[in-house]
Amino acid sequence: MEKSNDIPVLYIDALYGNIDETFRTGNKKMADELLALFAKGKVKGLDLKPTMYPMRGPYADLNTQFIVLQAGFLSYLWTVCYFMIGLIDLYQERAQQPVTVVRLSDDNEFMMLNNTLGWGRSLKFGEEDEVTSWPDYIPNPTQSERRVLQANHIFVLATCYLMYHEVGHLVLHADAKDFIKMTKSRDYVLSNEDKRRIRTMEIQADSYALDCMLISIDDEHERYMRFLGTIVAQLSEFFVRTFPAHTLGGQHPDLDERLKRILHRVDVQYPGYKLNLDLTASIGLQLFFALTFTDYIPEDQNNFGFDNFDALTKYLFDIIGEWKNKYHEEANKNH
Ligand SMILES: [Zn+2]
Repeated sequence: MEKSNDIPVLYIDALYGNIDETFRTGNKKMADELLALFAKGKVKGLDLKPTMYPMRGPYADLNTQFIVLQAGFLSYLWTVCYFMIGLIDLYQERAQQPVTVVRLSDDNEFMMLNNTLGWGRSLKFGEEDEVTSWPDYIPNPTQSERRVLQANHIFVLATCYLMYHEVGHLVLHADAKDFIKMTKSRDYVLSNEDKRRIRTMEIQADSYALDCMLISIDDEHERYMRFLGTIVAQLSEFFVRTFPAHTLGGQHPDLDERLKRILHRVDVQYPGYKLNLDLTASIGLQLFFALTFTDYIPEDQNNFGFDNFDALTKYLFDIIGEWKNKYHEEANKNH
């Protein structure tokens, strides 16, 4: 078995050109703004790290002004995109009224989706000597089947959203460099005020990133795709948590709050698009419950149905809310 630091970057680097291009020139207004930021030296460029494991999410290096993306994380994110697109397909094939929860089955198609995401997640959770390079038995971005092409498209948009979040930090929080350094030093204990400040910065960067995604994009389908990429990017953070209470952000805003904030901004008019976005959020949350072995289906399923995906998503958010309350109660008891 190869050692983790020898795992070669396979397949995902085929999309680096698309990422760079969409990031810089994906929409006219943003292209001008980025050029100005580059000219002022606020953003210096992209740093694509070839490491595959252990996986690390994107970040802004406040010293070098580079946005750092790691091949391992990007590979994981692609598997999330492929999985979500496949699951939406499967769900739509089997859709019935009223809206109900997704039954994850053990048919071949689902197993393939599951294996794909499973490999992606192994870049985070795998034992070091068991992590492998991109397996041939799962799909990859260099193939040409429809679902791969869709996954590639969503992946590029999801990556752009995460990059714009980091641009947001570089633009909005350059003066907080010393503060961030201090909070990351080994023995520093965060005060509640520090935590509030960090959370506020994260919310600002999220909001900045969504603005970047949508600015000067008027075409309804393109707006829909950008919301989809953004939602999938946010969902990808859920699937690397091992317990439901880990949606609690700690220093970061809670994951469910971040996802809710995105959903509240959805303004596409075409009902089919709106439905698909709600479906995506709902499937993503259900997958999160499945991955964390959380019960979310009541024993009595006779009246367990929803008028629409909005209602189902609200039900799922409420379960996360209950979980967080329980967690806070326990934490208070132990103090
Ligand atoms: Zn951030």
